Order: sequence, then structure tokens, then C-alpha cells
Amino acid sequence: MQDAMMFDPLATAGSVNDTRSEAQQTAAPGDALDAKARREFNKLQKRLRRQVGHAIIDYGMIHEGDRVMVCLSGGKDSYTLLEILRNLQRNAPVNFSLVAVNLDQKQPGFPEHVLPDYLESIGVDYHILERDTYSVVKEKTPEGKTTCALCSRLRRGSLYGFAEEIGATKVALGHHREDILETLFLNMFYGGSLKAMPPKLLSDDGKNIVIRPLAYCREADIAEYARLMAFPIIPCNLCGSQPNLQRQVVKEMLAEWERKHPGRLESMFKAVTNVAPSQLADRELFDFEGLEAKREKRLASRIDALDLTRDV
Ligand code: SF4
Repeated sequence: MQDAMMFDPLATAGSVNDTRSEAQQTAAPGDALDAKARREFNKLQKRLRRQVGHAIIDYGMIHEGDRVMVCLSGGKDSYTLLEILRNLQRNAPVNFSLVAVNLDQKQPGFPEHVLPDYLESIGVDYHILERDTYSVVKEKTPEGKTTCALCSRLRRGSLYGFAEEIGATKVALGHHREDILETLFLNMFYGGSLKAMPPKLLSDDGKNIVIRPLAYCREADIAEYARLMAFPIIPCNLCGSQPNLQRQVVKEMLAEWERKHPGRLESMFKAVTNVAPSQLADRELFDFEGLEAKREKRLASRIDALDLTRDV
């Protein structure tokens, strides 16, 4: 049995108020919550912890001795990821360490002190990696074109390279269920392929294992958790880029479906984990040419079986 299989997502489910750092417990607005609101907060935190724990088990994301580099952008998702992993770490049956890494891309107005202040207040090991990808992106992207694709590629390259430098064995990203579904539809609509974002993957150069422990979590839960935890969010629009319109459209489409048909996103996510290659049309995934041979084999085994019953 793999070490990761011993992760118990419910191990900490009973104790909730002790899961935040002392600094946060004294400073977070959660303290101002009335009893009912606190119960809701506790339920939300348990749910996130349970979902992250299950994703870790299901995909064997974290093993004994892993050094997990949590990529921290300053957005709600990565703060939540770090906090929930810290929660699980305290009671996990496997030992692993966490190191937070922020890539300072030198965007104008980036508040450099926010993340170091926060990380020091919660006592997490961290690095701020400085790379001026902002200038590269501005220089290379034609006027009016969206900068996100190149920016993301450069960011990924910098972070993966740094993970190697600091000996991180896993790189954890804060993508959640909706990110995965949006990517699925974007690839279908614009890329002509049926692929999303896997919960665990080997980077193209084979050097890094990337994990997405929030894969089972709803974006709305994460947003609510981030609000209640009062994370010091750094806005994502400092680069001045136009938001990715295609993604925005898909996001709204999914939100609308969920509004009209509650549970649809859950069902779609389940579909991503439950693929039937013989019911699709990818010749690489399923041997359609071999169906005749398969039929012959089945017929032959039936005839053999009939012969056997006759003999009896
Ligand atoms: S919004 Fe700005 S910082 Fe974010 S990926 Fe796009 S270009 Fe990069």
C-alpha cells in the first residue's frame, strides 16, 4: 500500500477552531462570527479538508518525505490550498514538508510586502522568486493580443525550475473543480481535443510532479473560505491584461448551467473521472480495428463452453 493511501482526510475533522495559526486566530474576522456563522465556517473548512484529503488519496499525491512546493500567487485559491494543506499536515500519518513560493513577476504596483508579511505571520517556510516575466510578455506579445498564454508558460517554467533548485518533490497548484471543467470545455471548443487538467501530472521535461489537491473543491466554497479567513488577496489584474474572454464565457456558461440544473457540474466532474474509451472515437485509446478478432475470440470461447456442457 502506498504511503499516500494512509492519508485520512477525516482525521482532523473533529477539531476545527485549532486549525488556524495563532496569528490568524487572533486577527481573522472569524472571531467576530456569531455561533451560527462559526458553525457554518467549521462545516465549510471540514468539507474542504475532506475533499483535499480524498484527492490526495485517490491520486497518490503526497508520500512520506515529500517536500511540497505550494505555488502562492496571492489569489484565493492558492491561499486556500496552503491553509488546507497545513491543516492536513498536522494530523497526516505521513511526514511531508511545505514550502510556499511566490513568483514576483515584476508587475507594476505588485505589493511586495503582502506575501512575506502573511507567510511570516503564519510561520511557513517560503521563497519569493523574482523574475521579470512582465517585461518579456509585454515585449513579445503584439498589441491587443492577450498576454496570458505566454505569461503562464514563463511562470510555469520559472516555478518548475525553482522547484528543482530547492529540492521540492511535488509542485502544488491551486486549480479547483471549475478550473478543470472550464479547461475541458475550452479544449473542446477551441482545441479540438477532449482533455482537461489532471489532478496529478509529470511535467513535459519529466522533472516535476505537479499536483492539484483542490481538484475536488468547488470554487464557491474556496471563495467563501478565503473571505472568512480574510486572506490578504493580491488582485490578478496588475498586469493590465484583458481577462481571458474565452475562459470567461465558458465560466459563465457553466455557472448558468449550475444555476438552472443544480448538480450538473458535479456530474460533469464525475464524468471526467469515469471515461469509457470504447464509447468515444479515439483510435489511439481504443482498438476499433481489433473488434472482429475480439468477436471471434468470444464466439470461440462460447463454443468451447457449449462443448464442455455437452460432454457433461
Ligand atoms: S492576467 Fe496577467 S498575470 Fe495573470 S496570467 Fe494573464 S498576463 Fe499573466
